[in-house]
Amino acid sequence: MSERWPPRRLAMLEAMGVPLRLPRMQAEVPQQAAAPPAAPGLGVRPVEAPVTAAAAPARAAPVAAEPATPRTAAPVRPAEPAVAPPRPAADARPVQSARPGPVAPPEATADGRRILGVESMDWPALREAVAGCRACGLCESRRQTVFGVGNERAEWMLVGEAPGEQEDRLGEPFVGKAGQLLDNMLRSIGLTRSEAEPARQVYIANVLKCRPPANRNPQPQEVLQCEPFLKRQVELVSPRLILAMGRFAVQSLLGSQEPIGRLRGRVHQYHGVPVIVTYHPAYLLRNPLDKARAWEDLCLAAAQRESGGGATSAP
Ligand code: SF4
Repeated sequence: MSERWPPRRLAMLEAMGVPLRLPRMQAEVPQQAAAPPAAPGLGVRPVEAPVTAAAAPARAAPVAAEPATPRTAAPVRPAEPAVAPPRPAADARPVQSARPGPVAPPEATADGRRILGVESMDWPALREAVAGCRACGLCESRRQTVFGVGNERAEWMLVGEAPGEQEDRLGEPFVGKAGQLLDNMLRSIGLTRSEAEPARQVYIANVLKCRPPANRNPQPQEVLQCEPFLKRQVELVSPRLILAMGRFAVQSLLGSQEPIGRLRGRVHQYHGVPVIVTYHPAYLLRNPLDKARAWEDLCLAAAQRESGGGATSAP
């Protein structure tokens, strides 16, 4: 089937490492989104009809539940908790309009530690607060915190889950093979984490700033304690679009326990910022056939960004 795909699509899939000769059921996935006009500026073809859970084609291997995702070469995570962390009522406030409003401080942890004043911090203060944070038990085992990288005025913000072994060692999110795949994915739609203007250089952050021991799943209390930092990063960046990568990013941003397979293919909202859900690059390394679906997600995100909101299919 790949020989019938447009050359531009083949080139982008190849850049992401998508197998061009897919099994029949898999190869049907990108064709369902075929032939939309090229998204201006990004050189991609957006998904014409976003895939919903109801419209998703039958698959030989279900993709609705993204399995536990080792972020690097570290051990495979145990099964992820089914319960998303509780979200404070302040989550309902938008952050997109002009400069977003303040974020309510989190409740105290069981041992009384809490993060104060995050809602009014600027970038230097926020970095310093994260670097010295001891609000949850992950501070005991981390080598260093992993704050985030990229353009602080980026139009695209990517949110991952938590640092892995290499991220903990280097202090940067998405390094190693997963990071290389992410860079290829970004390149396929004209984006980069390297120095560039805000329309092209993304900002990347994780839900957790400290590595869970042995890459285990983030615990709800850890996510809750770290959440103000991510919120403030979103407020300061004020992105035009957020790409939520992986189940814990989705749970934190959307407060949803739905599997990624049921959330992708449409536009969600995080305080007024459009959110596109997709798979974590580490998951894609272990499930390369789903790169075609991730590519669809990128195309949807590009279309959403280009349309300025008009491409949304959010309920
Ligand atoms: S994971 Fe977040 S809340 Fe926990 S110690 Fe690290 S920075 Fe603080």
